Amino acid sequence: MSSQTLLLPEQVFDGTELHKGWVVSVDENRITYAGPLNGLKNAGSYTKKELKGMTLMPGIIEGHSHLLLHPYNETEWNDQVLVESPAERAIRGAVHAKKSLMAGVTSMRDLGSEGAGYTDVYLKKTIDDGIIPGPRTLMAGPAIVATGAYGPKGFHDGVKVPLGAVPVSGRDNAIKEVRTQLGQGANLIKIYADYRWGKGEPSQPTFLQEEITAMVEAATTAGRYVVAHASTPAGMRRAIMGGVETIEHGDGGTAEIFGLMKENGVALCPTLAAGDAIEQYKGWKKGTEPDPERVAKKKKSFQMALQSGVNIVFGGDVGVFTHGENYRELELMVAYGMKPIKALRSATSLNAKILHFDELGMIQKGYLADIIAVQGNPVENISQMKYVRYVMKDGVVYKDN
Ligand SMILES: [Zn+2]
Repeated sequence: MSSQTLLLPEQVFDGTELHKGWVVSVDENRITYAGPLNGLKNAGSYTKKELKGMTLMPGIIEGHSHLLLHPYNETEWNDQVLVESPAERAIRGAVHAKKSLMAGVTSMRDLGSEGAGYTDVYLKKTIDDGIIPGPRTLMAGPAIVATGAYGPKGFHDGVKVPLGAVPVSGRDNAIKEVRTQLGQGANLIKIYADYRWGKGEPSQPTFLQEEITAMVEAATTAGRYVVAHASTPAGMRRAIMGGVETIEHGDGGTAEIFGLMKENGVALCPTLAAGDAIEQYKGWKKGTEPDPERVAKKKKSFQMALQSGVNIVFGGDVGVFTHGENYRELELMVAYGMKPIKALRSATSLNAKILHFDELGMIQKGYLADIIAVQGNPVENISQMKYVRYVMKDGVVYKDN
């Protein structure tokens, strides 16, 4: 008698294409078969699990999260950094990790603890040790900013406040901080290549080219990679030339900049859902009022990015909005012009490759058993991603309803 499980959904999205009538078998934490039922030997000996009316697919890989943040309409970012202790934020983070997993997010790249030091690394440990349920994670740790460029700010110079990331200046200082963060357990390095220097001002570049180049060299020497927050053409250009692997946000990207990204193998993580949420927090009545300027511009730049052929990472900046509502980014990717199947590839096979989640993102023999099933067919209607009914991570079932 086989101890293997045979999953019987309506159809399978394997990370690239949709297959009607496929079945999937799992042994411990590995996928052992994915294909038509008649291609499987001894099918009768398996423990069967019917997933009627559902689409089975790889677990979602969230590309840009902040498990240690919660929606800004509950508490402004400044107050989360200044008022909430790292202990409180860790406890909130544990709740967020479970919500994410239940929403089908089995892997997640978390891009900065935003003032909570290495709490993200400690949260990862409790998930990996099986203390709390949550996704596989790659954690950025505290992240790195140019001196004076990040918040919270607006205090007189005698007031010491915790910052949302660690400030550095100069090549040596920047290299040292990269090594410190990697040594403390960060899986990758996040830098801010541009930011607003004053309240209400437009973003300007922060690091010099040589600082970015040095940080990337220090990280890649250690076998890790760097991602950059950037939304101005100048900041994006420096990040690309410096050798980062992904650019986060990219709102002000031009056709030339997206072309440069493609040429250099840099992917774009557009975080559409963050801007969409923030504008609603500011009072935008979505659906009844016209798009605010920020949203209208973002739609245009996203469409330009699609046309350029640059790789698009699925990542919503979740934490700015409610954890577990990761599907909002997928809905917006489609609403802004991407084909649903391409958005789903971004969230699975493409993210696995770009974010360095090995042996994940595909329903294929030999891959790790991170499998979800959603009601209906998300390739026809992306909003079905709201209805995740079944979640398996590393061969263990966390949700079945
Ligand atoms: Zn972010």
